[in-house]
Amino acid sequence: MPEFDLDLFVIGAGSGGVRASRVAAAHGARVAIAEDRDVGGTCVIRGCIPKKLFAYAAHFAEDFDDAAGYGWTVGRRRFDWSALIAAKDREIARLNGIYKQLLAKAGVELVEARATVVDPHTVSAGGRQMSARHILVATGGKPWRPPIPGAELGITSDEAFHLPRLPRRIVIEGGGYVAVEFAGIFHGLGAEVVVVYRGEPLLRGFDMDVRRHLTEELLKKGIDIRFKCEIASVERGARTPLVARCVSGDALDCDAVMFATGRKPGTAGLGLERLGVALDANGGVIVDEHSRTSVASIHAVGDVTGRPQLTPVAIKDGAKLAATLFGGKPSAVDHEAVPTAVFSQPPVATVGLTEEEARTRILDVQVHRSTFTPLKHTLTGRPERTLMKLVVDAGSGRVVGAHMVGADAPEIMQGVAIAVKLGATKAQFDATVGIHPTAAEEFVTMA
Ligand code: NDP
Repeated sequence: MPEFDLDLFVIGAGSGGVRASRVAAAHGARVAIAEDRDVGGTCVIRGCIPKKLFAYAAHFAEDFDDAAGYGWTVGRRRFDWSALIAAKDREIARLNGIYKQLLAKAGVELVEARATVVDPHTVSAGGRQMSARHILVATGGKPWRPPIPGAELGITSDEAFHLPRLPRRIVIEGGGYVAVEFAGIFHGLGAEVVVVYRGEPLLRGFDMDVRRHLTEELLKKGIDIRFKCEIASVERGARTPLVARCVSGDALDCDAVMFATGRKPGTAGLGLERLGVALDANGGVIVDEHSRTSVASIHAVGDVTGRPQLTPVAIKDGAKLAATLFGGKPSAVDHEAVPTAVFSQPPVATVGLTEEEARTRILDVQVHRSTFTPLKHTLTGRPERTLMKLVVDAGSGRVVGAHMVGADAPEIMQGVAIAVKLGATKAQFDATVGIHPTAAEEFVTMA
């Protein structure tokens, strides 16, 4: 008789949990995974994937305009929000099915229920108690709204994917990833967008040139941004369905208010504190480099931890944990120089240190910066400009940061990230022959 019913019980079938369970099962572990919503987690069901589909939808507005510069006459256009929602829902349902199949093929039991941790080796889910040698908490996070009067009248990114109608005017609070991505989406689809951000410029934490450049591009498009401003309350309106009242006294009439004010880890009600699993001030599970919590048999990966809230990070940590526990290959993910992208319009992508970070860590920092009109827009007349920037440790010559705002930035940065991760020097960037004519070649030709 085995000591435990299972080798691994995973709570949460998002990117990190699914990857960990499949890798563990491939190593011969007996695995079950609990999920009380669709399989796929935030990224697949209510994050990266539907968001990127929406971003494509929104970009057509500019593409139609830009086509005129190339001799095209584009007929009358009309956008149908419900057609987009239906197409997106079909794709998400397909992906949910694929995820379920992947689990089944791997021999992972899917328990379609909410799970709680009973003791360091026991989980309760769907009316059953199961013992497991290891428990993995991969419950992700949830959007958070500020505790202001009327906050419940607003939406978060979760609801934005299911709105019955496209709002004519939307107020978005926040200046991070979700706020700028949805500002671009709603603006492109034809809504009037007001962004209310308590700081200035947008995207705190990114390189200051990137922050200024993106802010400027969004302003140029006609997105109304209220800096150093916060929403004090949301009320039902007389002229419009809602009014967002700002701390400044401004009253913003609108059809919808969206809170893009950050996310909280999904640890509530799991029973972790009772078992002595240490949590941080935000409620996130504290883990070491091997994703171990303060209780030896309990592990955590993904957005429920304080690590970067990025799908590929959760996937890598999930895979490494499974290989460590069941593959006889103890190893940890290197969380340095994780590339990231914001699918704003235009998009942002970055890897490594910002100039500001480099100046606090490195004695002699060299900065190479280039802004230009992309070739495409020489004929469209669109005033959009691209920013590219390299941050170099002058002592070693190593490129320690690369940043871009402009079309295809995320696609370009993935390759640049390999060079930065390998410790490439500016001289090696310069020795690389460019691909002409591209924007990407600027990274190897910057003076
Ligand atoms: P972020 O932490 O990126 O941004 C939250 C924003 O809300 C910040 O601008 C913050 O201001 C503001 N804010 C926080 N609290 C308040 C408050 N009480 N009142 C007013 N404003 C407030 O969170 P997001 O929800 O945008 O994204 C969460 C995470 O999800 C990201 O950090 C990212 O890791 C991930 N993500 C990744 C994406 C991608 O890879 N493309 C896309 C979407 C999300 P301040 O700047 O002053 O702190």
